[in-house]
Amino acid sequence: MKRLYTAADLTEAYLMRDMLADAGIRSRILNEHAQGGTGEIPFTQAYPELWIEREQDLERARKLVTEFEARTNSDVYVDCPRCGEENPDNFETCWHCGLPLD
Ligand SMILES: [Zn+2]
Repeated sequence: MKRLYTAADLTEAYLMRDMLADAGIRSRILNEHAQGGTGEIPFTQAYPELWIEREQDLERARKLVTEFEARTNSDVYVDCPRCGEENPDNFETCWHCGLPLD
């Protein structure tokens, strides 16, 4: 197993695991249960880590992570022409009214 990524939280870790699974890459989350408890969490190594099961997937997985980060860190928004709500520019349909966006 190779460590791919340290996620900020479990939600991000799950998202990324699903994204990798879609690409046919098997991964595991370590420290999955390190968060959510109270008081007894060590300050280090508590972040969920994503590990790739097969080393040959690592390079492809890293590329996906880079793309994932580019998407999630995007602060470019488009206004929906129908309802006016802001959407991240990678959204294909408006989160609010479902109108397809360009
Ligand atoms: Zn809309």
